[in-house]
Amino acid sequence: MAGYVCPDCGAVGQLFAEETPFPSGLVGLPILGRIPFDSRIARCADRGSAYAAEHPDTAAGQALRELGARVSALLVLEGAGR
Ligand SMILES: [Zn+2]
Repeated sequence: MAGYVCPDCGAVGQLFAEETPFPSGLVGLPILGRIPFDSRIARCADRGSAYAAEHPDTAAGQALRELGARVSALLVLEGAGR
């Protein structure tokens, strides 16, 4: 999680003083995305619906779609024998 989404105004706030617990490269893995916590993610998951599709214009929805695009690009590269 990277911050949280205010349920009243949609602004993204900071949860922790240090938002990078695992700097990229520290454990040998790239950081593919930073998703701000939005309580609607849990509600969507409980209903079995896709948060990013249901809330595409929110900070978390955009971050999830960007994450999906990065994973998709990595899979294409891996499939091409990178
Ligand atoms: Zn607010």
